[in-house]
Amino acid sequence: MISLRLLIPIALAGALLGQQPEDHKNRDLGYDDTPQIPGQKWRVHDNTRPHPPKVTPAAQPGQPPSDAIVLFDGKDLSHWVMRGRGGATGAPQWKVENGYLEVVPRKGGIMTKEKFGDIQLHVEWMEPADVKGTSQSRGNSGIELMTRYELQVLESYEGVTYADGQAAAVYGTWPPLVNASRKAGEWQTYDIVFEAPRFEGDKVVKRACITVFHNGILVQHKAEYLGRAIHARVPMYAPHGAEEPLSLQNHGSVVRYRNIWVRKLKGYDQQ
Ligand code: MG
Repeated sequence: MISLRLLIPIALAGALLGQQPEDHKNRDLGYDDTPQIPGQKWRVHDNTRPHPPKVTPAAQPGQPPSDAIVLFDGKDLSHWVMRGRGGATGAPQWKVENGYLEVVPRKGGIMTKEKFGDIQLHVEWMEPADVKGTSQSRGNSGIELMTRYELQVLESYEGVTYADGQAAAVYGTWPPLVNASRKAGEWQTYDIVFEAPRFEGDKVVKRACITVFHNGILVQHKAEYLGRAIHARVPMYAPHGAEEPLSLQNHGSVVRYRNIWVRKLKGYDQQ
């Protein structure tokens, strides 16, 4: 025989399931009487909080999702210009063939026409199989966020240089957490989340920071830039716009790029 102590909770549970109070049903889409999330303007499970936009992922990982801006698809360089000291200096003179973009030494770097602040960026790059040189001369290029904050590109599978200058280093500040380099002649991937610095007048109030997966392996995790890298000196900040072009460095080495796409990110403070 079932005791009353067991029957009462079972009966109560049944009543709740069968006769759900009206206000409880309406809470499937959120609440209006819950406490506020500290530091946010929203309540816990807030029924007025906007839903994030839908994005269609690519069929294959590494390919651009529906909201990406494709900066280089293997053929088209229309998003890019040559980068001179004072800015854009005309059509890009790097070589495009067989679905990749190749640095042409002594022709200067290239940069995007469009400007970016906080971004997610996917870049694929490859060192030539017959890469030559040593240390910083061995397949040197770079992803220059906002034309200033370099993520190093270098042949670091066999090549050796100072730790804060090898592939996937925040140049002059942070070596990668691990060396995830592939051999020269193999395509490599960088998946980057970059947060732009914030300035108030001449003062930096939030440093630029970067998270990087190199060939799918976490190599930088919210690593902060101390400013624009200067060879053999401590990096320094100088104020600039909230958005700036993305550039690819010409360091005199032949390096190839393909499948470059970017997503603009809305800051967490705006959600
Ligand atoms: Mg470089």
